[in-house]
Amino acid sequence: MVVSLVFTNVTLTNGCMIEFVRVFHDEVKRMSQKYRNFIDGEWVDAMSGETFENRNPANWNEVIGTFPKSGKEDVDAAVKGAREAFDAWRLTPAPARGDILRRVGDIMSARKDELAKNMTREMGKVLDETKGDVQEGIDTAYYAATEGRRMFGHTVPSELPNKFNMSIRVPMGVAGIITPWNFPMAIPTWKIFPALVCGNCVVFKPASDTPLTATTFIEILLEAGVPPKVVNIVHGTGVGVGTPLINHPGIDLISFTGSSGVGKTISKAASDSLKRVSLELGGKNAQIVMNDADLELALEGVLWGAFGTTGQRCTATSRLILHEKVFDKFMDMLVSAAKNLKLGDGLKPETQVGPMINQDQVETVQGYVKIGREEGAKLALGGHPYKEGECANGWFHEPTIFTEVTPEMRIAKEEIFGPALSVLRIGSFDEAIKVLNNTRYGLSSSIYTADVNQAFRAMRDIEAGITYINGPTMGAEAHMPFGGVKETGNGHREGGWEVYEFYTETKTVFVDYSGKLQRAQIDNY
Ligand code: NAD
Repeated sequence: MVVSLVFTNVTLTNGCMIEFVRVFHDEVKRMSQKYRNFIDGEWVDAMSGETFENRNPANWNEVIGTFPKSGKEDVDAAVKGAREAFDAWRLTPAPARGDILRRVGDIMSARKDELAKNMTREMGKVLDETKGDVQEGIDTAYYAATEGRRMFGHTVPSELPNKFNMSIRVPMGVAGIITPWNFPMAIPTWKIFPALVCGNCVVFKPASDTPLTATTFIEILLEAGVPPKVVNIVHGTGVGVGTPLINHPGIDLISFTGSSGVGKTISKAASDSLKRVSLELGGKNAQIVMNDADLELALEGVLWGAFGTTGQRCTATSRLILHEKVFDKFMDMLVSAAKNLKLGDGLKPETQVGPMINQDQVETVQGYVKIGREEGAKLALGGHPYKEGECANGWFHEPTIFTEVTPEMRIAKEEIFGPALSVLRIGSFDEAIKVLNNTRYGLSSSIYTADVNQAFRAMRDIEAGITYINGPTMGAEAHMPFGGVKETGNGHREGGWEVYEFYTETKTVFVDYSGKLQRAQIDNY
């Protein structure tokens, strides 16, 4: 029906033929809910013909669509296409590449509400948060657009006369991009926009829990004018698509965000070919609340940090480090506020906590509830999956708070990635810092205190890539570097100006205009 309306309303002149084909493709795809890879300039099924389903975690009966379950042969075709496109793309002026990304930002802005709704359907975050996720992508697009005019090198004096020295930045080739499901728009934009503006082509393997947002993102890139073949998307599993992508000799660099376990596997695999690899991995973030803190403010911070995004953020507050002088009072405030949080479908305005991403993730949290109990911690709240009323068919879990947690317990040191908070009691600032640093991760951190001296010591002594003073552990901004220390990563940063270094090589150039051979370190000494 929709297709025939399109037919009657379109005059098939040459000028609108391309637009007609695009609308026709979109309508057929939406009606069949069957989505494809974009490889070598075309929308195609997996060569094997296999597919997988994408379902709504708030209502597992709702199938959002089927997507290609791809393999090595699909990755090979995508890399081949990207390599063919590289020469023309690297020779496109960087400001012109940036202009395309500005148009991407414009389209994302115009479609923000629709993108957010679809994201909530496929991964569960409440609508305000999915709008924030899209907004982060928009901010990143506009930042990247201007970066095309700012790809600075250096000029420096030569040690020899009549000689000119400079460094310039050149693209690397084809980037393999592998992303998780918890920020299905923001994280791909953090990687793909800098990759593109720097002149690289891209093969993108999104998380198989959020293929719809990723597919729409590629459609927007193409609509804005990114040439076909410059971007490719290959859907499928980590082993089916991720592994061949990492091992492919035609891939020059890998940017990965996900768990530390998979990050280590990628790092080992890429070391044989000396590929450049950026890893953004897990976290065990903590909020310290000192005895002089504004407790109402600290309460808002920990509720948002621990239970926003259902605790499924890399920067989620997984530990609360609470001063003994305010311990009982703050615990009462926290438990009574957390037990009133409204669970439900993220599309409903009254919902405060959406579902977890899938059954596995609910089971992981349940596993840690068991571990915590066995270690001697006590449950101050929650501890169970939640299946009441409208939540009956989804992957919901009660907000869960452990108390009597000690620093050596696994629930105090390991990432849980769900709505579970471990509360540790401390008696001094020094003890708070020691407890906070007692984990192999180092992504985000926070301290609530009115003492400026303690705040500055915390900025200096906390082992984390990000520290908030009087704010929760979450809240990245597109123009600031983002990343962690220890097993949270391998030293690279996303966001802001730093990520542009990752996607370029530095080339050192000497221009000798003396007309004679000049030997550095020899003829001048
Ligand atoms: P994950 O590691 O299971 O998967 C991430 C991506 O890697 C997915 O696309 C997956 O299909 C792929 N993958 C899985 N196995 C692979 C393999 N062997 N080879 C190549 N690719 C493979 O992580 P997840 O469950 O999607 O996301 C949650 C994790 O991501 C948490 O640990 C969280 O802390 C982390 N995370 C970190 C950041 C950050 O910036 N530091 C941001 C978001 C999420």
